[in-house]
Amino acid sequence: MHPGLQEALLVCTRIALMSVSQRRCIRTIPSIAVARPISTPSDKALAVVTRFDDEYWLARDEDGEFPKEFHRGMADNGWLGITMPEAYGGSGLSVAEAAIMMHEVSSHGGGMAAASSVHINLFGPHPIVVHGTPAQKAEWLPGLVAGRDQCCFGFTEPDAGLDTARIKTFAEKVPGGYIVRGQKVWTSTAQVANKIMLLTRTTRYEDARRPTDGITIFYTDLDRSKIEVRRIPKMGRKAVDSNALYRRAFCSRNASDRRGRQRLQLHSR
Ligand SMILES: Cc1cc2nc3c(=O)[nH]c(=O)nc-3n(C[C@H](O)[C@H](O)[C@H](O)COP(=O)(O)OP(=O)(O)OC[C@H]3O[C@@H](n4cnc5c(N)ncnc54)[C@H](O)[C@@H]3O)c2cc1C
Repeated sequence: MHPGLQEALLVCTRIALMSVSQRRCIRTIPSIAVARPISTPSDKALAVVTRFDDEYWLARDEDGEFPKEFHRGMADNGWLGITMPEAYGGSGLSVAEAAIMMHEVSSHGGGMAAASSVHINLFGPHPIVVHGTPAQKAEWLPGLVAGRDQCCFGFTEPDAGLDTARIKTFAEKVPGGYIVRGQKVWTSTAQVANKIMLLTRTTRYEDARRPTDGITIFYTDLDRSKIEVRRIPKMGRKAVDSNALYRRAFCSRNASDRRGRQRLQLHSR
């Protein structure tokens, strides 16, 4: 997992687990952690967050529907692009600033459901920001910033959680592209996402020089004719679905698919 992403997820998890009094203390962080003169993410995010009251979140907790109005509100106010470069419609701020924003998001009625409805789009696609080519960024980031595209994050597998390098999903190179075979689990938002960041091995673990060699991320359409998405019943965070993904996906070659869109993303060594 990318260190920036790992750091952000850790910060968000810690904040989500904090007591109310601990959370009050962290409100002092913006003046310390934010080196650049910006209006504090916490104040501005609050303006969107407070529009959604306890009744709204209670209803989502009962019906299990994705909080699309909240997601839209965050997108319309530019929050989904907080870590994305300004050239692609984002704000060009840091992961630390995004964590401050996420603190506000999770500190009101929506709690973890509110956080998860936006943090996957913020932190999941960050490898595109860090490693994507200019063409890939230009094609993919504006849709994520505007909330037109929703991306889920297919990394975890039934036998590979924290030990990410042990994933078994394999992308086989074939003429014209790749065939990806494997299974993912706990893929949040796959019921509503139209895109997926899909972690695969392109060299088997046993054949790789180092465990982290031969790993490839695809950013591609979540094509439900190729990928079966099954919702996992779970306790808590009902509005943000968790899923198991089965079967195989077809991802086209690095250059472009027939519609001229680039799909293949990033290779490790
Ligand atoms: C609600 C929910 C949403 C999620 N959303 C997503 C998502 O969108 N996309 C995605 O890819 N994944 C998602 N996940 C999966 C999550 O990232 C994994 O659960 C996490 O990576 C841990 O993996 P695991 O559950 O297989 O636990 P394991 O890796 O099996 O770990 C189990 C326990 O063993 C400990 N442990 C593991 N390895 C070691 C070691 N070497 N030494 C000592 N202790 C160790 C761990 O600390 C932990 O306590 C989600 C999970 C949940 C519950």
